[in-house]
Amino acid sequence: MFERIYPSKIILPMKMHSGVPAVPSVKAGDYVRIGQCVGIPEKGTFSVPVHSGISGRVSEIKDIRLPNGILTPAVTIINDMKRTRLDSLRPRSGLKLSASEAIGIIRDAGICGMGGEGIPTAAKLKRARTEVVSDFLVNCLQSEPYSTSDLVAITEYPDYVVSGSSACARAVGASRCIFLISENRKQQRQALENSIKRIKDDFKDLEFEIKLFRERFPQGYYRLVARALYGKNLALGETLEKSCKAVLFNCSTMLACWEALSDNIPMMSRIVSVSGDASGGHNMLVPIGTPVSELLTNAQDIKNGSDRIVWGNCLTGIEITDPENTPVVKTTSVISVVRRAEVPRTPCIHCGLCSECCPMNLSPNTIFEMLNQGLKQKAAEEGARDCIACGSCSYVCPAGINLTTSIASFAGEGRIIEINSLLDNRGAGDKSIESYGAASVGEASLLEDYPDGDEKVSKRAADSITLPFEKDKEV
Ligand code: SF4
Ligand code: SF4
Repeated sequence: MFERIYPSKIILPMKMHSGVPAVPSVKAGDYVRIGQCVGIPEKGTFSVPVHSGISGRVSEIKDIRLPNGILTPAVTIINDMKRTRLDSLRPRSGLKLSASEAIGIIRDAGICGMGGEGIPTAAKLKRARTEVVSDFLVNCLQSEPYSTSDLVAITEYPDYVVSGSSACARAVGASRCIFLISENRKQQRQALENSIKRIKDDFKDLEFEIKLFRERFPQGYYRLVARALYGKNLALGETLEKSCKAVLFNCSTMLACWEALSDNIPMMSRIVSVSGDASGGHNMLVPIGTPVSELLTNAQDIKNGSDRIVWGNCLTGIEITDPENTPVVKTTSVISVVRRAEVPRTPCIHCGLCSECCPMNLSPNTIFEMLNQGLKQKAAEEGARDCIACGSCSYVCPAGINLTTSIASFAGEGRIIEINSLLDNRGAGDKSIESYGAASVGEASLLEDYPDGDEKVSKRAADSITLPFEKDKEV
């Protein structure tokens, strides 16, 4: 179950994804409708468009700084509460799409990974297709404390999650569609199984499987999945696609893909958990850009002003002090509200807890010391770049040492390599990411705007996708 939130305004950053910011395509005073594109990528850039999830008038466009330090232009829209939407937001019917058309729709719908760093989904699909993956993995694990937004997406819209996954699996040419879920999530597992039964006749070329994982944090990060499913320890810069012939997507991202493919709905809203040890569990369906303060207002049980409000999960998220001007972005799965507990800070007592809990088998205290002394090369040799920024070491440390921040920022270059591999892939002949332009996004983004221009994709076998469309979801 989730609550629907209709905020008084939204603040839409032009950069909520990996890549360069989109450019505002509206100006102060303009009227916008639900689903309208308000930010378009500059031609030739690695980016995604931005759409409005409310109707109303643009009040201002200015640079804002997000809690993660990113400086980005942002479009603020005041909600007229009329919920006027674009005529183009309506179910498609009986369409047969080529793989490149389906990926083009996902690209123009502004979809990026909703579970983490916001990698543009179309780019990742194209890389998977180029690498000829056979396994399409759907991450339904959501192991972060207090986060249940993905699980709610599966419970409420299982057919959207499974259909989106199946359509994308077919678009990349995979033969198996595998859902990864915790063994304790019986309700969601049942929902997925029932949905697979309903739709599998429409995807006869795909094998479906559900893989059960142990309930623990962290789970679902691609390097952990590579180890768990394929027994491979991926080195820095190695991709799941190349090394395991598999690609991994978040289940909420798959829901968004089916909304785009089935109903022509761009990425303009998402489910966000608002919970923590100072708040009962809430899940809210909100337009992207909703100020965090409006979520907190709707979570009636949050009363204590001394609680910490964290943008993201309580282990790796960032504490915010200005919830009124901090928006929910495409990658925000949870706002954590946790009690302020002052941990006594002491030097390391060498208890070894940080090493015991590290999912990448690192010695965080050793690496932390090396980095403190400027011994970067030694830290790298100790495996520091393998850190996945899960936050576990800082969480368990009885000495209150914030190990994660310095280790994870040192390891951050690894994630830049991951993004760069997508850019390299684009350079190897994938022109479609460069084909953004004012004419190909937003309201003008009709199916016929996507001819099969992608040579590499269209020459593949199984290029044609006939998508079944069900109409059971309110826009
Ligand atoms: S944050 Fe700490 S526990 Fe997590 S992977 Fe990095 S070093 Fe290991
Ligand atoms: S958990 Fe903290 S105190 Fe224990 S070894 Fe690691 S850094 Fe030292």
